[in-house]
Amino acid sequence: MADCYKCVLLFGAPGTGKGTQGKLLGEKDGFVHLATGDIFRALDKESELGKKFLHYSSRGELVPDDLTVELWQDFVKGLVLGDKYVPDKDLLLLDGMPRSLKQAEMLDGLIEPLAIVHLTVGNLDEMVQRMKLRAEKEGRHDDADENVIRNRFDVYHNETAPVLGHYDKGLVTDVNAIGTIEEVFQRAEAVVMSVR
Ligand code: ADP
Repeated sequence: MADCYKCVLLFGAPGTGKGTQGKLLGEKDGFVHLATGDIFRALDKESELGKKFLHYSSRGELVPDDLTVELWQDFVKGLVLGDKYVPDKDLLLLDGMPRSLKQAEMLDGLIEPLAIVHLTVGNLDEMVQRMKLRAEKEGRHDDADENVIRNRFDVYHNETAPVLGHYDKGLVTDVNAIGTIEEVFQRAEAVVMSVR
């Protein structure tokens, strides 16, 4: 497919609020929010793929790259076919993709990042606190256990953070993710609007 999806990448360690901000930004005209974690969570838990997802996510690990990218690509194609995403018009807000260097390489030529919103939280305790609250509110099995949370941070540090280095430095804007949802939204919104 010759399509190259123009997008903004939402980046940040677990608990920095990518999902919350992505949803809010996705409500704006001309933006489509796409969270890989949501695609996985929507899978039938009894299906082969659904079981695989649970196997990895319950340990705080990434689902294997090939499988993830394939599922993701199929999902995007479905959005295009269903007219929910019009590549010529809309900007994709990618949340949780790419999440490893291998994924970034696999997506080269398929996505064109116009900006990268890097949500940062200086204080690790603050993030752990947020994740525990979310686990209680949303019943997220992957954040219920402190060890799994720790592992998710390690995976972020070792596998996902290096993805930032794959892209032009000039694309990356650090956004302070401490503050109210509205405050952080305004900061993130300024970045995405600058490339609209
Ligand atoms: P968060 O936003 O809190 O980091 P997500 O909802 O994005 O969490 O992801 C939850 C889980 O889904 C991850 O821990 C991982 O197992 C799986 N996952 C999500 N995106 C990817 C990806 N791009 N590659 C591999 N696994 C992924």
